[in-house]
Amino acid sequence: MPVHKVLVVGGGITGSVLSLALAQRGTDVDLVEISPQWFGVGHGITVQGNALKALRSVGVLERVLARAVPFDVMRLRRADGGLITELSTPHTGGPDLPSTAGALRSDLQNALCDAVYAHGVQVRLGLTVERLDQSSEQVDVTFTDGSTGRYDLVVGADGINSAMRGLIGITQRPRPVGMSIFRVVAERPAEMDCAEVYYGGPRFKAGYSPISASQCYAYLLDENLDASLIGPRAPLALMRERGAGYGGTWGKVIASLPDDTAVDYRWIEAVLVDEDWHRGRTMVIGDAAHACPPLIAQGAAMCMEDAVLLAELVTGDEPLEKALDHFMSRRLPRVRMVLANSLQLAAWEINPGTPGADPARIMSETLQSLTAAA
Ligand SMILES: Cc1cc2nc3c(=O)[nH]c(=O)nc-3n(C[C@H](O)[C@H](O)[C@H](O)COP(=O)(O)OP(=O)(O)OC[C@H]3O[C@@H](n4cnc5c(N)ncnc54)[C@H](O)[C@@H]3O)c2cc1C
Repeated sequence: MPVHKVLVVGGGITGSVLSLALAQRGTDVDLVEISPQWFGVGHGITVQGNALKALRSVGVLERVLARAVPFDVMRLRRADGGLITELSTPHTGGPDLPSTAGALRSDLQNALCDAVYAHGVQVRLGLTVERLDQSSEQVDVTFTDGSTGRYDLVVGADGINSAMRGLIGITQRPRPVGMSIFRVVAERPAEMDCAEVYYGGPRFKAGYSPISASQCYAYLLDENLDASLIGPRAPLALMRERGAGYGGTWGKVIASLPDDTAVDYRWIEAVLVDEDWHRGRTMVIGDAAHACPPLIAQGAAMCMEDAVLLAELVTGDEPLEKALDHFMSRRLPRVRMVLANSLQLAAWEINPGTPGADPARIMSETLQSLTAAA
């Protein structure tokens, strides 16, 4: 086994799944998370089959599905709520898993956090890496509290604004895609049984997904509004104003929100490190290496696939350098395809009426191709 002791930097979905997968293979894992508290935010997430498969491989699927809402179709609607069509969504995790599950991010993260602790990972919160010194044999790490550690491999899983990327010499930075998103968690209406997307309204798109027996999340994709609005407490009145014109269940959900509802507003960004994600014994994975606009809802799935495959390869028989090259040859083409198709969908949303635009086709082709093993 080429690695025995690994440092994981960042305890989001990527870092948590990686820590778990490594610990389950007998690796000694330290995880540092910059936030002093470790929890997931309360938003919804669409967890597709290939992500469910990764969660199953690290043993948390049952717990996630105990609260999540599985479904195998997606409906496209007009802005007034009238049905355009219902699409079956491909089973990207295999026929024995739902094609999709809607979940509360905090439920997913809590399941991961509990499993990480239960597998003996040494978790340190409110801490990050200050300095890395690597040789061909190991990486010496100095943390921000002055403590030090020696590792066979250091993995940055610190998200789209990764500091680890720069620390190991990767220069790519995220860039705005040209669209923004309002998100809320709301009471789930009885009729909502799968994700639905509303096209042709005054903004790029509106939609929702059930995420638990009693909750759903709803969103509105808009142009980039004033950057000062970015944050977890954007005005609900603004979301209502921007979403005026969307009817059906979406309109009903938004109208029913209490006035103090937390509205998360952010600009959507993307990044791709379109080259090796490793530099010697240091590397980045997950959103730190590739973050796509959520038009196919595959971001976290790509992150989890990275984590599971990396753990498998660096605890296998190949020397580390070979294992990492092997990892890149399997991950980069797949991630590149998802990112390119997500950006294409975003471009079509932003420029409606583009000749040849066919979002349903690109969405279904992407998901179909992801049914092949990661
Ligand atoms: C609006 C939106 C909707 C989305 N919807 C979906 C969806 O429905 N389905 C889907 O599959 N994907 C979706 N995604 C993508 C998905 O959320 C991300 O791909 C995924 O959460 C990234 O996980 P991560 O662990 O790599 O990064 P993050 O979730 O960003 O986690 C990084 C972690 O590292 C910590 N950290 C940051 N800096 C440091 C540091 N210097 N040192 C130590 N720790 C650090 C952070 O506190 C955090 O805990 C969506 C993304 C967006 C923006």
